Amino acid sequence: MPVVSNGNSLIAYNVLEKRIINSGFCTLCGACEAACPTSALHVKDEKVHRLHDCSKDIDICPICYEICPHSEALLLRSLSFVADAPIKNEALGYYRKIVLAQAVDPKLREQSHGGAVVTSLLKYGIETKFFDSAIVSQTEPENPAKPKPAVALVPDDILSAIGSKFFPSSVAKAYGRAVYGHGKTSIAFIGVPCHVLALRKMEAWQHKIIDHLKITIGLFCFGTFSLSSLLDYIKEKYKIEPSDIKRLRVASEFEVHTENGVTQIPMREIEKHILPSCRTCTDFASELADISVGGAYPLPDWSTVIIRTKAGEDFFYDAVANGVINTWVIEQEPKVYERIVVAAMQKRKAALKEAKEMEEVYGYLPVLMLRETDALADIKIKEIMAKNITTVPQDMTISQFLNYVAKHHHISYPIVDEKGEPVGWVTLEEASSVPKTKRDTMLVGQIARRKLVVVYPDETALDAFKKMSENETGRVLVFDRENPKKLLGIVTKTDLMHTLIK
Ligand SMILES: Cc1cc2nc3c(=O)[nH]c(=O)nc-3n(C[C@H](O)[C@H](O)[C@H](O)COP(=O)(O)OP(=O)(O)OC[C@H]3O[C@@H](n4cnc5c(N)ncnc54)[C@H](O)[C@@H]3O)c2cc1C
Ligand code: SF4
Ligand code: SF4
Ligand code: SF4
Repeated sequence: MPVVSNGNSLIAYNVLEKRIINSGFCTLCGACEAACPTSALHVKDEKVHRLHDCSKDIDICPICYEICPHSEALLLRSLSFVADAPIKNEALGYYRKIVLAQAVDPKLREQSHGGAVVTSLLKYGIETKFFDSAIVSQTEPENPAKPKPAVALVPDDILSAIGSKFFPSSVAKAYGRAVYGHGKTSIAFIGVPCHVLALRKMEAWQHKIIDHLKITIGLFCFGTFSLSSLLDYIKEKYKIEPSDIKRLRVASEFEVHTENGVTQIPMREIEKHILPSCRTCTDFASELADISVGGAYPLPDWSTVIIRTKAGEDFFYDAVANGVINTWVIEQEPKVYERIVVAAMQKRKAALKEAKEMEEVYGYLPVLMLRETDALADIKIKEIMAKNITTVPQDMTISQFLNYVAKHHHISYPIVDEKGEPVGWVTLEEASSVPKTKRDTMLVGQIARRKLVVVYPDETALDAFKKMSENETGRVLVFDRENPKKLLGIVTKTDLMHTLIK
């Protein structure tokens, strides 16, 4: 029988139930179960179950709502764990380096259908006792599509989790089990961006179980599907029983592998089975992880690795130095960089559009956004603008531009004329949408956005934020008031976030 809520507003569960669970935003990460001090919650069978009314045990508890990755709480503090990285990129977040990488062992690459970087790193970490356990997602033997979060203690546990599963995995719940059930004290955590956010929120909350976290590896993520809804659809339309599925894979289409072969399903056809929270999720590249890993299309057998923190850098390069991982420079592969940046930008844009619509329905914003805007009113543009601006000439071809972007790691550039005066700007996303056959002849000047959104050094960060919102852009150019053609700097939304964190 469901436990009836007593409506006490000091008990976070009441808000969690209303805003997240009943509104369909839960992605079943299990963080609320792991963090609950009264063991009142249990994630099972695609639901969060309330086992007892916690208000009988305690009067005040903010935990489950605040650490839920889909609440607005603790976001800026969570971001601070990666904010000392030198590069701030609008699409990919804060980082130290991006490299291409692959497992040296070809058998692992074959099994993962990617670079098997995550599996190699975890195996290496367990074998060298860098950590004592890892939270991975295996699959249920009777339903091979269903992720089974597990506490990996030996290399074999890690090998049996290789490959991506496209349904929710309650990895944060397994993290709690590693601490409380197995007594583990040095844990590697692997998950999609919302899983990593849940762990970072626990860290921001200074929850006691987070002392046992050694390293977080985040996966890139476009979204996860509702397990029962998609499997029912595949069964009904394609006559494939869940127990007959050997493997699922996302390539250009959704592939269902069975003993009888591979069934290809267009992604558009199954988009409606993606979880509601994924539609407002702005994080593609696991922006809060120590190390983020994703595909490296069009290169088979490679993964893209974004190293964000010092801890991530030390661990990753230790594995490289010990011959477990091969690396390659992403600057030599502009197509890979282009693809991940465009994917991240498109995900963010779609999420913000969806969030606006949802805000009207729900009355609040279920998405990571700039909120503490008042603080921005005290900061002058001249204090935060980036001064060494990289510009591109208007006669640069699109192909030249795409190569240039991969080397400079910015995603948008002011375009200047022969006199060096700004005449517009161009983004990687726009350049990338130019057909390949036209890229050698078309010039950036031809696709430039001519409307410059301008601020002056004596204006405030809040003015910049308002202009960005009004013009639906992520950046403004700073001009000299005395000489309106003189470009002095640039301010992006990421700079505003960074300012707030500081
Ligand atoms: C739902 C989902 C969506 C993704 N979307 C994209 C995308 O759009 N673009 C892109 O470039 N990359 C995406 N990825 C990442 C990509 O599929 C690979 O996971 C990543 O490149 C790592 O590859 P690898 O060969 O190094 O990993 P492997 O060595 O194969 O290891 C994969 C690890 O991921 C863990 N894992 C698998 N599924 C899950 C899950 N559902 N939840 C938590 N942990 C899990 C396993 O425990 C395993 O340890 C997605 C991954 C997932 C799970
Ligand atoms: S974390 Fe547990 S005790 Fe706290 S409000 Fe949520 S359900 Fe209740
Ligand atoms: S913490 Fe995780 S499991 Fe709990 S309500 Fe939020 S998304 Fe769902
Ligand atoms: S898209 Fe976002 S909310 Fe959805 S599974 Fe991925 S990280 Fe979580």
